[in-house]
Amino acid sequence: MKDLLPGESHRWRHVESLLRELMDAYGYQEIRTPLLEKTELFKRSIGEVTDIVEKEMYTFEDRNGDSLTLRPEGTASAVRAAIENGLMQGQSLRLWYLGPMFRHERPQKGRYRQFHQLGVETFGVATPDMDAELIALSARLWQRLGLHGLELQINTLGTPACRQDYRQILVNYLEKYRSDLDEDSQRRLHSNPLRILDSKNPQMQALIEGAPRLMDHLDGESQEHFAQLQAYLASMDIPYRINTRLVRGLDYYTRTVFEWVTTLLGAQGTVCAGGRFDGLVEQLGGGATPAAGFAIGLERLLAMLEDQQLLPAVAAPDAYLIASGQQAQAQALRLAEDLRRQVSGLRLLVNCGGGGFKAQFKRADRSGAQLALLLGDEEAQAGNVGVKYLRAEQPQLTLSTAALVELLKDTVRAARTTSTGV
Ligand code: ATP
Ligand code: MG
Repeated sequence: MKDLLPGESHRWRHVESLLRELMDAYGYQEIRTPLLEKTELFKRSIGEVTDIVEKEMYTFEDRNGDSLTLRPEGTASAVRAAIENGLMQGQSLRLWYLGPMFRHERPQKGRYRQFHQLGVETFGVATPDMDAELIALSARLWQRLGLHGLELQINTLGTPACRQDYRQILVNYLEKYRSDLDEDSQRRLHSNPLRILDSKNPQMQALIEGAPRLMDHLDGESQEHFAQLQAYLASMDIPYRINTRLVRGLDYYTRTVFEWVTTLLGAQGTVCAGGRFDGLVEQLGGGATPAAGFAIGLERLLAMLEDQQLLPAVAAPDAYLIASGQQAQAQALRLAEDLRRQVSGLRLLVNCGGGGFKAQFKRADRSGAQLALLLGDEEAQAGNVGVKYLRAEQPQLTLSTAALVELLKDTVRAARTTSTGV
């Protein structure tokens, strides 16, 4: 679990504000749910025989003896909240959320115990135009961020019924190689054999490559759904690769699954993952409601953006107000309030804690500000402010407050159009 320090937080804000803009542009609405849920919710939605539920959840008993869990993902909570509040009744719904998730994993690059996801969930639409919109939305995000190096992989898992037939075929195959299966896979051979296809163990890859393909055992409607999805993607010029081994680590998916994958981050290469989960709402006690969504791992996204130098530098203040002398100090805070009110977007630091002129000047310089505003008793009396350029060779000025306001407006305008970084 990491602290997000002042030198980094502005990068998150940059990405987050872009995300919010994008969600508005596509008509998605934000939902904020509690970080804690009853443990039962995750067991029922994610599935008992998954990495998350078997070994990654932070679970504890509260004072009433109820078993609670810090959310390891957001879909279950979104579905629960939508059911409880009747949000899905007679209408389709497009939701998003952003926040921390908790999984007790082995920490490594791109894998943390508290990490952040942007989650997007839609309810009430079964047709593949919705799957395609979700993929287009994620593709648009990479484009807006200027990011390159992500590949879209898609697959279909069909319906639970055709998966049931395939499951037996897969088990028959895997049983022939029982002794080659790793410990997790041996355990899952009968409880959840599809999950074996999702194994990250390099020793298992050849065996997985040779397994019969779910793709070859799909029902006609699922095949049609998948074909239509591909047609939509082609019509929007979104390149993709079909990866028949893509099964996703959670039990609730049906039909479409997809991931955006990179080779630029090392072993943890999935930045965004999602798919369709038509059975989940009903499984959690709601009416039968088709659904689809995805989640982006923000730490991995930010790591990519950093590698590609697509993140903005820390935003320095525009100006630093220095006040020296009794009268000047008495007026400084009031002057700063006036300036902030009159100059929209102004970033103004006020020297607090006194200090001599020289010491204050040093602080002004260290703040990174473009301008030092100088208020001495003389200026205070005359209603003027001195202006010294800290980053440019320019003569010092003495300005009336009104003229200062105009200068600051220009400074803000110039700074915001050149230094956004993206
Ligand atoms: P992985 O196969 O990498 O364990 P997952 O299938 O468990 O991922 P999801 O539950 O689908 O992942 O979560 C969606 C995204 O959240 C992942 O693609 C990844 O970008 C991010 N993510 C998942 N677990 C972590 C973690 N422990 N630390 C950082 N990011 C994570
Ligand atoms: Mg995982």
